Amino acid sequence: MNRSTGQNKIDDAKTTDSRKLSIAFSNRSLCTRSGTCIGACPENALSVDEDFYPKLDPGKCTDCGLCARICPGGTVNFKDLTETTFGHRNDDVGFDGHVEMTYIGYASDEGIRGGGAGGGVVTALLWDLLKHGTVDGCIVTRMNPDTPWHGEVFIARTYEELLMSQQSKYIVIPVNSILAEIRDLPGKYALAALPCQIHGIRMLQRQNDPVVDKIGVIVGLFCASAMEPNVALEMMEMRGVDPSEVVDFAFRDGDWPGQIRATTRDGLKIPLHESNFKDGAINYMTYLYSPFRCQTCIDGSAEFSDISVSDAWTRDEFGNYLFSSQSKLLARTDLGVRTMKNAIQTGTLVAKDVTEEAAYKTHKLHTVKKGMNGPLRVARLHRAGRSAPNYDRLVARPTLREQMAELSESFVMWLGRRRWTRYPLFRFLTSKYGWLFIAIRQRIKRRKYRGNPGGAQSKKC
Ligand SMILES: Cc1cc2nc3c(=O)[nH]c(=O)nc-3n(C[C@H](O)[C@H](O)[C@H](O)COP(=O)(O)OP(=O)(O)OC[C@H]3O[C@@H](n4cnc5c(N)ncnc54)[C@H](O)[C@@H]3O)c2cc1C
Ligand code: SF4
Ligand code: SF4
Repeated sequence: MNRSTGQNKIDDAKTTDSRKLSIAFSNRSLCTRSGTCIGACPENALSVDEDFYPKLDPGKCTDCGLCARICPGGTVNFKDLTETTFGHRNDDVGFDGHVEMTYIGYASDEGIRGGGAGGGVVTALLWDLLKHGTVDGCIVTRMNPDTPWHGEVFIARTYEELLMSQQSKYIVIPVNSILAEIRDLPGKYALAALPCQIHGIRMLQRQNDPVVDKIGVIVGLFCASAMEPNVALEMMEMRGVDPSEVVDFAFRDGDWPGQIRATTRDGLKIPLHESNFKDGAINYMTYLYSPFRCQTCIDGSAEFSDISVSDAWTRDEFGNYLFSSQSKLLARTDLGVRTMKNAIQTGTLVAKDVTEEAAYKTHKLHTVKKGMNGPLRVARLHRAGRSAPNYDRLVARPTLREQMAELSESFVMWLGRRRWTRYPLFRFLTSKYGWLFIAIRQRIKRRKYRGNPGGAQSKKC
């Protein structure tokens, strides 16, 4: 698949003014594929196409312009979203965003903890809300039972359904499209979502859309990048796995931190990379399969959630993980603090308060990738007259070294745009021959950890 980043008109939009539509209809490369416009359209004129972009039924569209106003793709105003979420406009808060309390923890239920991408914390929070009747359902994701290499959104109403929703699906899923269903349902719903999906919800909130009143609590996931939906199919092709034999696909199967595996009809679990997960497969993936919109995204910590959850990748000076199978929680709003404390009090969540410990700020690599390189890339693209999202955040003046780092990251991402460079490179890096690159990465990291035990610090930009 050739992933164009240029202007892309959707044929179906010919009878509608594309300026009144979400960004996908005038500049597809800026679409986050959050599904917000699909869930917001009062006429149900939008649906999801095969690449997870919105598709228009021009016969139903009334040109009302709502989907353009709530689209989080082309423009994100951080001050507006700060006002909507926190009641003030001061967004000068650093990469982690506004944080009231920080915890490290895990789900007390072994089933939830064992099934989680990290400590099963997202699911523990949702389960606590569900079992105590605070919400009637949870908006979550799973791998599609018919095409298990793609993800889909659904409403979980039971413990078993929540277990099915666990794990990170590092792929584009238009989660907010579910709002079209929620709109007509009674009750309240908790939502687990990525930063861009939360931007869409907060933009709807600014438009006083009543569907937002149905969202009880928003649990945000940290996000370096989603991946193009073709990533799983390409990985299976690389290892000679026939998709028609595959009944399940997981990005973090098995013991923490997990392995990317396909499960076949006869129960065989096939690992899709020889390389290590964190310093290898997933890191290479976030460069080579990163959609253009994700490369220009600057919210890595789900700044506008009630509670954000990240992996606790913190390592000691020898590069060993300090908190395997645990997650970090940042409670941002009063609702977030209450939700987290309730889950701890009822015993659903086991968590330690680390609010006062500086070492638990976001780890540096993530801060650099989304807090530094993202904004620098956007500014560079704007200067060159190329398309990139509009943000109301200024970039600090970069050093030459920082500019070079952004350019080299952009170069690797550029290699990912074409199959003939992406496919052999990723195949090589995730094969047993890619060990040298992982060894180099680990060596560089170990050197950093030695100078900075805990490996964690926040860099403001
Ligand atoms: C695309 C993506 C990128 C990420 N990048 C980072 C990162 O750079 N650094 C970091 O620390 N953490 C990142 N995370 C979060 C991390 O992988 C874990 O999801 C998080 O720590 C929660 O783990 P858990 O065990 O508490 O959640 P679990 O109990 O396993 O629950 C996971 C929840 O995430 C939801 N979910 C999974 N995939 C998606 C999706 N594509 N869209 C919306 N919701 C989804 C599920 O529905 C479920 O509710 C990312 C997650 C995703 C999906
Ligand atoms: S009816 Fe309104 S919200 Fe729906 S597609 Fe048309 S302009 Fe967008
Ligand atoms: S990187 Fe940004 S745009 Fe991409 S999925 Fe994550 S939050 Fe959305």
